[in-house]
Amino acid sequence: MKGQSIQPLRTCIGCRARRGQSEMARLVLVDDEGGLSVKWDFRRRLAGRGAWLCRGSGECLAAALKKKAFNRAFKVSRPLDLKEVETPQVINTAAT
Ligand SMILES: [Zn+2]
Repeated sequence: MKGQSIQPLRTCIGCRARRGQSEMARLVLVDDEGGLSVKWDFRRRLAGRGAWLCRGSGECLAAALKKKAFNRAFKVSRPLDLKEVETPQVINTAAT
């Protein structure tokens, strides 16, 4: 065990799989003047509550959107601005 770093496991909000952080893409809830929005946090530097999706998986994203998993993950009932999250180019970026 010595010298090994143990990765914390994260649960994908789309398919509920548990994986190490490096296999996941992080999303954060941003509360600004325009209301609540969800944004990608590829560098994992943004503060706030995070949600996780399997990296580069459009299927997990679609599943999460379909079952309103973002609202559940962030524990909010208000509608969320998911424009950035739904942008396909951003999904592709997450796969690299
Ligand atoms: Zn997943």
